[in-house]
Amino acid sequence: MTTTQSTSETESSGDGDHDSALVTARRQLEHAAAHVDVDEGVIERLKHPTRVQRVSVPLERDDGTVEVFTGYRAQHDDVRGPYKGGLRYHPEVNAQECIGLSMWMTWKCAVMDLPFGGGKGGIAVDPKSLSEDETERLTRRFAEEIRDSVGPTKDVPAPDMGTDAQTMAWFMDAYSMQQGETIPGVVTGKPPVIGGSFGREEAPGRSTAIIAREAIEYYGNDVSDVTVAVQGFGSVGANAARLLEDWGATVVAVSDVNGAIYDPDGLSTHEIPTHDEEPEAVLEQDAPETLSNEEVLELDVDVVIPAAVGNVITADNASDIQADIVVEGANGPTTFAGDEILEERGVHVIPDILANAGGVTVSYFEWLQDINRRQWTLEEVNEELEEKMLSAWADLRDEVEEHDLTWRDAAYVVALSRIAEAKAVRGLWP
Ligand code: GLU
Repeated sequence: MTTTQSTSETESSGDGDHDSALVTARRQLEHAAAHVDVDEGVIERLKHPTRVQRVSVPLERDDGTVEVFTGYRAQHDDVRGPYKGGLRYHPEVNAQECIGLSMWMTWKCAVMDLPFGGGKGGIAVDPKSLSEDETERLTRRFAEEIRDSVGPTKDVPAPDMGTDAQTMAWFMDAYSMQQGETIPGVVTGKPPVIGGSFGREEAPGRSTAIIAREAIEYYGNDVSDVTVAVQGFGSVGANAARLLEDWGATVVAVSDVNGAIYDPDGLSTHEIPTHDEEPEAVLEQDAPETLSNEEVLELDVDVVIPAAVGNVITADNASDIQADIVVEGANGPTTFAGDEILEERGVHVIPDILANAGGVTVSYFEWLQDINRRQWTLEEVNEELEEKMLSAWADLRDEVEEHDLTWRDAAYVVALSRIAEAKAVRGLWP
């Protein structure tokens, strides 16, 4: 069953603390629009997705019973290229969240100057409640339900919360079987043996670390002199923490869903298993102190990296953040109200749409490798990623310096200018 929804569905009222991704994304857009010379009609259009698909995904459980889950794919804007963005398996996935997250993908791809627009989708399901066989069947059926709207030149999904390289392999296989030929470029984030890219899994953590390093140096510090706290020890948080430690930073705290470990002298982050290696293992490690997930954000450190879920820095705790720099490894960790408080307090927030953009950037490299049927080495990938991140950082830095903007507004200005220019030269149809 496929239905295409109107986009005027009810938004959460927005108490500033528990806003949906859509509410936050729209407020950020309106806020940034004041700083950019872009036609109001374009801004109005960008508050809405092109389309949102909602599908029913029946699953035969291992015990033979049938359960029906709801899946979504939001396609926000494709003026610069095919829709691009992850598929999330999480109980709270809904249309609004997918729309908000797809808007962030549009900006993220434009900030990185990638030839993609923004999309996001997923299934409202707790992936931990499924066996591996069930996850495979659910993924294959979902791929079938949204098959008409995806494709290497239309819309290219990727991993996100609750999905991984294996999920992408099943999706790609289901799609390819129906199309009658192997089409690796329909998704990115696949295992390298079937056209995935080396370095893709670590890429969002790597870009978060690169951008943290640039921000640390920009504000007059050396990486080897700073302390860092990281919330979340999945692929983003763990890879960012490990790289920053490799570059000399003292990573004093890391957390997973159960809580944090803290050592003022620095943790050995390579010895702590990531979520993928061993889920929820952080608290099992030896450390002088344990903390809650909230406390890890409020530590007296130089840099804090929220790299777990959204809406963790809100009006309730923004005044308690003691770090000088917040680097957003997760998508949407700061609510609009939380952001305003951090700005007033002079805390520099480096936004998600730059910091974790390494993921979609290496997805772009993967897509190029698939088209060319040629695999890049890990060194090539990491070199190109570094270059892309530094170039995007420089574009934002110029805006920050020339127009005295926050890093988030600067990112929006860069993204909106590129999108508006593309819309202007293509013209409005009909
Ligand atoms: N889900 C990731 C993100 O939020 C990656 C998307 C992609 O690679 O297309 O950026």
